[in-house]
Amino acid sequence: MSEGRYDVIIIGGGPAGLTAGLYASRARLKTLLIEELIPGGQAAVTHHIENYPGFPGGISGERLMENFKRQAEGFGLEIAQGRVERLAREGDYKNIYTKDTEFLAKAVIIASGSRPNTLGVPGEEKFKGRGVSYCATCDGAFFRDAEIAVIGGGDSAIKEALFLTKFARKINVIHRRSELRAEKVIQEKALGNKKIEFIWDSIVEEIGGEKIVKYLNLKKAKGEERFQLKVEGVFVYVGNQPNSDFLQGIVELDRGGYVKAGDSTETSSPGIFAAGDVRSKLLRQVATAVGDGATAAMAAEEYISRAG
Ligand code: NAP
Repeated sequence: MSEGRYDVIIIGGGPAGLTAGLYASRARLKTLLIEELIPGGQAAVTHHIENYPGFPGGISGERLMENFKRQAEGFGLEIAQGRVERLAREGDYKNIYTKDTEFLAKAVIIASGSRPNTLGVPGEEKFKGRGVSYCATCDGAFFRDAEIAVIGGGDSAIKEALFLTKFARKINVIHRRSELRAEKVIQEKALGNKKIEFIWDSIVEEIGGEKIVKYLNLKKAKGEERFQLKVEGVFVYVGNQPNSDFLQGIVELDRGGYVKAGDSTETSSPGIFAAGDVRSKLLRQVATAVGDGATAAMAAEEYISRAG
């Protein structure tokens, strides 16, 4: 069933998608944003964002994204819920298919973001939701006064470890190297926090327990030394992978599956643009997603007026 024609359809409602929606709507293009879950993306489940300019005291991710959404809707952006399964081109229009609906658009902006990686160790799947989590904002409060672990050494791991100090008694940050990847300001805060202990050069081999998580089996990254750590919960922050499976064969992807698109955000397929974390680029932040979203909307407007 075809659900209507749009000038621009945006796939994904994180910071990049919502900004593209704001700019496209202000350009008076008939614009629809399709989001699988609730608008806001990964930023919306980030407890506190303190490096998005304009908020000297920081702002909760949920509030910031709610503001993005209200601002875009205020200029006429339509938002629909659905999971885009396929994208195709037919003549001047691009066809966007969700489970039960087909949409048509003159230009498409892919802003489908990324999702957290799993560790892929025994016990991870079994204990998901029973001590294993990928979202401190969602699950942190379940670990009041508990000893827990955070896996990873990037911005997400260290920021969320700091957030978890509100609830947990002790947080063991387990990193496979002896140097963190996270922003220096965040590192300094974590290294100076008495509730956080770092377990360096260590790899999780197994997550164990009975009904819920009880321990981690760890191994030193170099050598064969193995040891066990008793924890009641484990938060996994070992990077992300792009939500680009539905784009195979439609636009060029890099080796990691990110969409290839330069500064103009135009992909290898004319009229299809990529913005935010799903785009192959150097820095993935709300600030860079916003820039991508604005550029993609302007590039889409130009494409539509050129195509007549
Ligand atoms: P990331 O920067 O890719 O870091 C992933 C971390 O997990 C790295 O420390 C990595 O170790 C480790 N890791 C990867 N695979 C592993 C495995 N199999 N076992 C154990 N450890 C593993 O991911 P992220 O922290 O989610 O950040 C993603 C992007 O979002 C980044 O661009 C980041 O800057 C951005 N971000 C920014 C903020 C912010 O407020 N500034 C907050 C969240 C995210 P190695 O270091 O050894 O590779």
